[in-house]
Amino acid sequence: MNPHLSDDQIAEVLIGSATSATQAHLLACAPCRSKLATLRGVMGQFRMDAEEQSRAALRPIAIRHSRSRFKPLYLSLAAAGLAIVGLVVLPKDPPSQSTPLQIDTALLSQVDVQVSRSVPEALEPLSQLVISEGN
Ligand SMILES: [Zn+2]
Repeated sequence: MNPHLSDDQIAEVLIGSATSATQAHLLACAPCRSKLATLRGVMGQFRMDAEEQSRAALRPIAIRHSRSRFKPLYLSLAAAGLAIVGLVVLPKDPPSQSTPLQIDTALLSQVDVQVSRSVPEALEPLSQLVISEGN
């Protein structure tokens, strides 16, 4: 019979569920303590490697997410900038030289022309045909 701890007993020590007999053997047995320390070291290194690998694997995703999250903000800022430049730089309608009275007079004369038609505008070609045949 093996005088040292079995793999199952070492595993029980690692997960913190060792019996008092196992713990007593560990206190008295240097080879079993050494085996346990080696296993703890390997598991700790594995945990650090796994954490580093998962951080490295997630880093590009985080960068991609941060870029895609801010892209609409950049687009919005660019659109706002273009709108401001458009308001400042682009020429506005040339200032009207007409006074309101002149505008009103021009509008009324245009209305007079349209109201005083003898034939609606859409029928003018037809009326010209009738007039020319009549002559
Ligand atoms: Zn032992």
